Amino acid sequence: MQEAVEQRAREQEAYEAFADAVRGFDRVLEGLPDLGVVERKTELDAAFTLVRRAHSAVTIRGASDVVVLADDVYAQCAGMERWALRAAAVRSALRALERQWCPGTEGRCEGDPERCTYDPHNSAIVAHAMVESWGGRDELDQAEDRSLLEFCLEESGALSEEQLVALRQELNRASSWDLLLGYGRRRPAGRLREALAAFVSGSRREPSVA
Ligand SMILES: [Zn+2]
Repeated sequence: MQEAVEQRAREQEAYEAFADAVRGFDRVLEGLPDLGVVERKTELDAAFTLVRRAHSAVTIRGASDVVVLADDVYAQCAGMERWALRAAAVRSALRALERQWCPGTEGRCEGDPERCTYDPHNSAIVAHAMVESWGGRDELDQAEDRSLLEFCLEESGALSEEQLVALRQELNRASSWDLLLGYGRRRPAGRLREALAAFVSGSRREPSVA
């Protein structure tokens, strides 16, 4: 009896550690676009390593029905991890462009994009729209539009050199752009949180005693 209680406690500990690691991973992903390129990789690797270790502990100690739920959560994390750095590069550029949308801090801009005649702001708006819709162009259009996009990015002055380099890398291999944007903006975070909620509630059920 005592042994069963102790085993149950160890199980619960592993479950909670896994849920914590996944929540931490989710938070890190959310904040990735705001970090520098090098820190992004470091933070992501650290957060995903915690998830992986905690997941192993669950698969070793956990009850089989809970392990199934944990596997689903882990699969979500692994899928997001694969896209996270590329998505963060695009998201970071979009956020920087958004900050140049007529913040009203410039003398020639009253804060109204409809009436703004300040070129850097207009360029930021055009560049943002182009980046958003980049994946919808075929290769020929991309080649034609690229110089306009580069011009607008330059004129907007919104991006740091590092952000530009990272964005260009993604523009150059624009296949699966929509997927990338999806991961960057909505991300499958909703799916991950659902899977985590199912895991947490499954892990708290008392084991059925035959
Ligand atoms: Zn403006």
